Amino acid sequence: MEYKKNDIVEVDITDIGKDGEGIGKHEGYTLFVKDAVIGDRVRVKIMKAKKNYAYAHLEEVTRPSEKRAKPACAIARACGGCQIQELRYEDQLIYKQKKVFEDLVRIGEFEEGFISKIMEPIVGMDSPFRYRGKAQFPIGRDSNGKPVAGFYAGRTHSIIKTDDCVIGVEENKDILKRMLSHMEKYDIAPYDEATGKGLVRHVLIRKGFDSSEIMVCIVINGDKIPYDKELVESLRKIEGMTSVSLSHNKANTNVIMGEKITHLWGDGVIHDTIYRRDVHNGFARFDKGIRYSISPLSFYQVNPEQTEKLYSIALDYADLTGNESVWDLYCGIGTISLFLAGQAKQVYGVEIVPQAIDDAKANACANGINNAEFFVGKAEEVLPAYYSKEAGGNDSMKHPDVIVVDPPRKGCDEECLSTMLKMKPDRIVYVSCDPATLSRDLKYLVSGGYELKKVRPVDMFPHSVHVETVVLLSHE
Ligand code: SAH
Repeated sequence: MEYKKNDIVEVDITDIGKDGEGIGKHEGYTLFVKDAVIGDRVRVKIMKAKKNYAYAHLEEVTRPSEKRAKPACAIARACGGCQIQELRYEDQLIYKQKKVFEDLVRIGEFEEGFISKIMEPIVGMDSPFRYRGKAQFPIGRDSNGKPVAGFYAGRTHSIIKTDDCVIGVEENKDILKRMLSHMEKYDIAPYDEATGKGLVRHVLIRKGFDSSEIMVCIVINGDKIPYDKELVESLRKIEGMTSVSLSHNKANTNVIMGEKITHLWGDGVIHDTIYRRDVHNGFARFDKGIRYSISPLSFYQVNPEQTEKLYSIALDYADLTGNESVWDLYCGIGTISLFLAGQAKQVYGVEIVPQAIDDAKANACANGINNAEFFVGKAEEVLPAYYSKEAGGNDSMKHPDVIVVDPPRKGCDEECLSTMLKMKPDRIVYVSCDPATLSRDLKYLVSGGYELKKVRPVDMFPHSVHVETVVLLSHE
């Protein structure tokens, strides 16, 4: 059968693709169907036909899968934020576990039986909603010209209006309402990407889950917001409000935040505390935790509950006794480094963004931690420099006991990996946000003499297709 655009076919969905779409085969021809769930029988319309496969639009679910869940959010399909809200949460976890497993086998070239033996079950959330401590709402206009807040539709820049997001905090709704009514009252225009005119671009909201402190940062295409005192008065009525600031972004760009921040009220930061959890005892919290101060521009993990579990697993895998020297590469604001510092002799953090290193140093100081040292630079440059001693490194830097890495999606640079092999730490703990590049890097490290010991996925972003993984390697 020849397939072409606008053909209607009925198909059983038998698999899930990498963007969460359903995959079905119609007489051997593969169909990718957004919003279809594994186990569904669906009627679809072909949108784009290639020789062996097509992208198709979901017309109707003719027989729903038992894995289907009623989405908690009314705009789940249109919004680009969540891709798999219509899949039951327990099946989301199965899907993510399988994704990591399959990448390790296919890309990492590990034996299936071996991975089954060492891989631990994914760590999910008990309640996978309202977990995000950070939200950035674009501001635009509806068809009547009224200012609205919302989210971008998947892969586009058109705003889908919403006054709430089920993975964000409850307070978002009230904050947006007050913001929009202030804009209406004083006729303040939303920014228009097409013309570069208008003032209000985004509203960034952050909440510290432990402190309950809330920050609002309004991103504007200008210097001032009219009647700002009245806006601050209104926002301050929200319980927990700690800081209101402006971020000035006058550039015609996709980058949300501008570099300059003006404080309208408060000192521009909120706090949050991350506690260690007992990975061998149902992730119960213990210890006094580490307190971080977070500014509008700081990178900070968005799901604090799962972050505690993720870092605690990494710490458990590092197996520190207090005598070790540890490198923490791609350290951001030092979140993992400061966790490690409590149980190591000395920690060295490396991060490419200078402001993040400033935050890391300030956070170390505020928590009374003096055995963590931080370096600005690329991991693949800083590490070799200290290994060769050209930067004046000492022996504990050259031959650390443990190296922790937490790279962005593209994984580690080969220069970084090869230096790690030369340094021969007893253990390597790899925290990854992309199972494909993780698998590629593991293959390299294993061929260089390391043994894969443990693998544990963590669900940091329920309802999205993303999955985080912690891995332990040790020297043979
Ligand atoms: N471990 C931190 C941050 C992880 S995100 C945390 O859990 O919060 C990855 C970090 O790597 C980012 O902060 C990014 O700025 C940094 N980064 C990206 N490329 C880098 C490189 N080549 N060398 C060092 N750091 C890098």
